[in-house]
Amino acid sequence: MATAPATPSPTPSAVLPLAGKIVGIDPGHNGGNFSDPEAIAQQIWNGAEWEACDTTGTATDAGYTEAQFTFNVARYLRADLRRDGARVVMTRTSNTGVGPCVNRRAEIINDAHADVAVDIHADGAAPSGRGFTVLEPVAVGPNDAVIAASQRFGGDVRHAMLTDTAMPESNYEGTDGIMPRDDLAGLNLTTVPKVLIECGNMRNATDAGLLVTSRFQQQVASALTAAIVAFLRPA
Ligand code: ZN
Repeated sequence: MATAPATPSPTPSAVLPLAGKIVGIDPGHNGGNFSDPEAIAQQIWNGAEWEACDTTGTATDAGYTEAQFTFNVARYLRADLRRDGARVVMTRTSNTGVGPCVNRRAEIINDAHADVAVDIHADGAAPSGRGFTVLEPVAVGPNDAVIAASQRFGGDVRHAMLTDTAMPESNYEGTDGIMPRDDLAGLNLTTVPKVLIECGNMRNATDAGLLVTSRFQQQVASALTAAIVAFLRPA
């Protein structure tokens, strides 16, 4: 009787860089927010003050919405992170709904015990303003334990954005692309390391030209993935 062909000896598979990690992604706003002003105007406690549940977000002069931009980047980012072995928790999984409110978004990611998280936005500033800004939390109570880690992650995000995308640092807010903020539920209420990134200014023609392209959206996802891998890499 013929012997069975030798089974190839197992080669040790490379350990994926984010194996066993949980990453939270919050794509800012929602496509349906335009349809329900009352729901998104309801007031929520953000850990320091009252704040609206959400807003519609901004748009380019041509009408490309921030909600669409953030959702596209989130989907590319989710794919990249899963490829690297992470479990991904998103605060919304379509661009047609209303909400959830910003406090609920923080809660979803806290409850998942994410190792790190990012809120994705794009700004609607004066047309002369260009560039990305990384918003970092300031200690207001609920987030006290994750300030230092969030600042470290913010540095990783800034570095990766400059390396992997064509977007420069903001020329109109923050310092070297970084700005502390104490007035946002997503940062005030977080119990996991987190930053919010304004990926560019949708009201600036040059930034808008980048923000609407899938190429740039994929570059942002790659940058955020690189930052997350760097942040979670064992020391
Ligand atoms: Zn926004």
